[in-house]
Amino acid sequence: MSANDDLFARAQRVIPGGVDSPVRAYGSVGGTPRFLVSAEGAYVTDADGRRYVDLVASWGPALLGHAHPEVVEAVVAAARRGLSFGAPTPAEAELAEEIAARVPGVEKLRLVSTGTEATMTAIRLARGATGRDLLVKFAGHYHGHSDGLLAAAGSGLATFALPGSAGVPDAVAAQTLVVPYNDREALEAAFAAHPGRIAAVITEAAAANMGVVPPASGFTTFLADLCRRDGALLISDEVLTGFRAAAGGYAQVLREAGEQVVPDLVTFGKVIGGGMPVAAVGGRADVMDLLAPTGPVYQAGTLSGNPVAVAAGLATLRLADDAVYTRLAAASAALSEAVGSALTDAGVPHVIQRAGTLFSVFFGADVAGGVPDYATAQRQDAAAYRRFFHAMLGAGVSLPPSAYEAWFVTAAHDEAVLAEITAALPAAARAAAT
Ligand code: PLP
Repeated sequence: MSANDDLFARAQRVIPGGVDSPVRAYGSVGGTPRFLVSAEGAYVTDADGRRYVDLVASWGPALLGHAHPEVVEAVVAAARRGLSFGAPTPAEAELAEEIAARVPGVEKLRLVSTGTEATMTAIRLARGATGRDLLVKFAGHYHGHSDGLLAAAGSGLATFALPGSAGVPDAVAAQTLVVPYNDREALEAAFAAHPGRIAAVITEAAAANMGVVPPASGFTTFLADLCRRDGALLISDEVLTGFRAAAGGYAQVLREAGEQVVPDLVTFGKVIGGGMPVAAVGGRADVMDLLAPTGPVYQAGTLSGNPVAVAAGLATLRLADDAVYTRLAAASAALSEAVGSALTDAGVPHVIQRAGTLFSVFFGADVAGGVPDYATAQRQDAAAYRRFFHAMLGAGVSLPPSAYEAWFVTAAHDEAVLAEITAALPAAARAAAT
């Protein structure tokens, strides 16, 4: 048994499934998850001493590459000053200002520790602001694991959702309506069935948790208009896309495409913590001021705005200059093109979808025409991805261990790193074809 296998066996004895977050278990690709012991730049190293080019990037946060020296330095310096005070610190306002300056509509911001908390708080705020209970979410969008968001579509488009996990009460799921993404009629039907009762629609700014599925042209504007007409708030979840899809998040991609959508609330996570637990909810000052202590909507956190985590986020955002985003865009374009040609050469039907610098690859003839929603994403050929994944892993490239994830490049994915990935592609594409 390898050190890695030993570690997995040991972890499984004391941790459910051996992991602290389910997708890490390799459940959908099979095999033993790699236990990582270190990471630097574009590479991660496992417990057996094997080094891989990493295309997971901690599921998004590692924008600059792993363990960027200046970020690590900022973290060490902050740690030396104290790990946690449970009192306000100067850097919190600096991070809030840094974020607000880059995202129109974010007038005020509250720091929390996880994306789950950010979306949970945004929804509570929307309910507090509107005095309404119902929430609309899109099928296949992930916003963390709070009860009301673990909801699956019920029997009809405008009917209440069912629990999407054991342990979620029917009554909680029934506060959520789940509609197909990019489907204007379904959205209109939900509002028409429940006029004046919907507190908010929450949407990933561009969906990236069912593979990358960008909003169709005009869809986000349509959504914002519908919310405004009904008096519901629009919550744009940029936990994954924020400061990654583009410097100003997916909102910037939309603006550049001519869509001026300013959501009422925006959630952030991942990149704003640079690999440490920081997330945030921000938006209209009048809505944000409803939060305690200025308002009646309660929210709190022992470790919220933790000084060590905030130092990592602040250093990351300050280093994320134009050159970083230019590199990210170039790496993303070059890699997706190389993957596309390798798959085409091997005769593997596929489609590559993009949202700014984010992209993912859907395998299979049933999806090759494009994936606008979750029902279509579920028709992808997961077995072909599994074969591709393991061929790449064997060749030293670590892809997300699920066909439903974005592929994450970092600013450390330079030409040499891309060449390593590209060299592994033809054999992996042939494996996918078999
Ligand atoms: N929202 C989106 C769009 C996400 O991608 C995620 C996590 O992947 C979350 C919310 C939840 O964030 P966290 O895992 O930090 O709770």
